[in-house]
Amino acid sequence: MTPCAASPRVSSQTATDSPPIPSLLNGGYLYQGTSSFPKFAMPKSISQLNEDGIHAISTLFLAPHPDDLVYSAFSALVQHTGVGTAVVFFNISRFTKWGILPKYFVTPMRTLEERIILTRLRVRTMFLWLEDSSVRNYPIECQRVTSQLKGLQGAFRYIFCPLSISGHSDHLAVRSAAIDYWISCGRKPRICFYEDLPYAAKMKEPEVEVETRVRELTRCCGHLSVQYNPLNVNQFRRKLALSRLYLTQNDHRTLLEKHAKGLGKKCRSAYAERYVCCS
Ligand SMILES: [Zn+2]
Repeated sequence: MTPCAASPRVSSQTATDSPPIPSLLNGGYLYQGTSSFPKFAMPKSISQLNEDGIHAISTLFLAPHPDDLVYSAFSALVQHTGVGTAVVFFNISRFTKWGILPKYFVTPMRTLEERIILTRLRVRTMFLWLEDSSVRNYPIECQRVTSQLKGLQGAFRYIFCPLSISGHSDHLAVRSAAIDYWISCGRKPRICFYEDLPYAAKMKEPEVEVETRVRELTRCCGHLSVQYNPLNVNQFRRKLALSRLYLTQNDHRTLLEKHAKGLGKKCRSAYAERYVCCS
């Protein structure tokens, strides 16, 4: 592992300039209704994004669930503000802090939370409307998940995806889809794996887990290095504040803070996040 291959400090300046929330609602939350599931209109499909000139977008964020990016890749979201597109795969969900509830209630809530928060961070967001592990009663089809990204054109400079430190099936499927997409792009973008939180913060020896994942991934991705993205106190406070806007989900602030403080020591910063990146 590289001891502290820290990337440039996160700029908090642009991140506070958020577009007004009504504008994001105008684009997408029209009830469409289908026979099987009351779907909210997806503001942008992959083909629409292509037509809109996604080539201008330089960073692709891939998330298994709403909330994964803010918990795990906040510094990257802020660094790439205004030029990032997030794709959230499994937003059909029943999981809440109150227990397992009907998907018709949970899905729109979680989708709306994610859209509001990522819009505040000036990241374009699209949802793939796949059923997460709290809804599915069938084995996940990795090929189906991977195929969701087919047709996504763009000259991405970076791809962020989960390291899958927890072994969660949804996270593993997205990681696999990300690697396949990266290979289909001729391995040109820089692929970075974010440490899955809060899972990583609950592990006794996250370092050992990270090393194991790095060894696993080296076989298909080549040389990888561990990087620590520093966050100062204000930046981390903002991350915590946004993480609490996922009102349907548990409060992970204590775990996130303890973990980020530990990582901060590795790069002489108040707080940090860990990424594994292709060099
Ligand atoms: Zn997740």
